[in-house]
Amino acid sequence: MNHFEEYCTKLVQSVGNKEGAVSPVITNSASFAYGTPEIAEGIFDGSVKKPLYSRMGNPTSARLESIMADMDSGVGAVATSSGMGAVTLATMSIVNAGDEIISIGGLFGGTYAFFTETLTRFGIKTHFFDVDELENIKNAINENTKIIFLESVGNPNMRLPDIKAIATIANDAGIILMVDNTITPLSISPLKLGADISIYSTTKIISGNASALGGCVVFRGINEGKDKIKTQRYKDVAKIVEKMGKMAFVAIAKKRAMRDFGVSANAHASYQTMLGLETLALRMQRVVKSVEIIALALSKNGINVNHPCIESHPHHIRYIKDFSNGCGTLLTIDMGTKEKAFEFLNKTKLATLTANIGDSRTLALHMDSTIYKDIPDDGKKFLGITEGLIRVSIGLENPQDIIDDFLTSAK
Ligand SMILES: *Cc1c(COP(=O)(O)O)cnc(C)c1O
Repeated sequence: MNHFEEYCTKLVQSVGNKEGAVSPVITNSASFAYGTPEIAEGIFDGSVKKPLYSRMGNPTSARLESIMADMDSGVGAVATSSGMGAVTLATMSIVNAGDEIISIGGLFGGTYAFFTETLTRFGIKTHFFDVDELENIKNAINENTKIIFLESVGNPNMRLPDIKAIATIANDAGIILMVDNTITPLSISPLKLGADISIYSTTKIISGNASALGGCVVFRGINEGKDKIKTQRYKDVAKIVEKMGKMAFVAIAKKRAMRDFGVSANAHASYQTMLGLETLALRMQRVVKSVEIIALALSKNGINVNHPCIESHPHHIRYIKDFSNGCGTLLTIDMGTKEKAFEFLNKTKLATLTANIGDSRTLALHMDSTIYKDIPDDGKKFLGITEGLIRVSIGLENPQDIIDDFLTSAK
């Protein structure tokens, strides 16, 4: 069976109910009544499994969390208010002042700013590497390294990591590997490739139509007995691991980040996100094909396109081998200068100009004057931001219509 077909069955079946309301129920309550003081006590000590307060968990969001966990072969998930909320939750539940992060690939502008500006204010240092600098990555690991953070596809540099090789480095060193899989849900399963935590902005292709801001973090089960999280490196969470066993990552995230940062998902956004999940496999399957068709056609017509389906791309072989189900909705076009890029964006009739990606519609944006405008020049160089760079997220349109529109706009 084709890779996406399996998910078609799984996702529609898990979102809908077989009894009562077919569409998931929205529980739009911030707080929950406990009934008796005995039940209240039980809820607070964890022995009674009922909702405590929506900041700590909501029944509608819990439904989304269980579908996301199942989709990604995790033991549990935490839904968040946004993708940045998910990045914050995942990292802040692990790091302490003095710790270090190794960040590979790259990197979404918000995450880059979070690591370079915000986390440095709290005494947490991040080292940045290209996906192919495996030796330098190994050499950068020290006793303070707590997280290796990786994006499944470089946005917007379109470089592809060898996720298995990086997982081996992380696992050999006993370090938690987090993969931001926002761009490649279903196409890539980070936990199966050896990652500990996968992170999503569900705002993008999971919702798929700009209807809901959201995020989600999916956790693998702790392997009791010999798990790396019990080693010296994570001694500050050893008590939670002892108590919670295989669910420890979820408990760590809730106790050490969700409770205090409050980046909780709201029920309505979780509902919208589930509606997106129903059709995710169908949309992914179509769009990863369209991206290839469009990238190859534009490239053939002399446009400077960056996508690994193009033979001259440095990761073309990796694309064919490890990304056989595509690498998401993105491609980039380098128009050479800002003027040419603006001219293109003023001419296109089909692309919607916005910072979002993964929408039903094709989206485009000039990078240097928008998302990356405050990033210093050396940062831009590392991230592959050039003067004429336009990031495009291909939508569900007929690919030939996009090709025609883009070729006309590039003239
Ligand atoms: C958009 C995005 C985020 C942040 O998500 P928001 O929902 O906008 O907060 C994080 N990582 C990647 C790869 C993204 O594309």
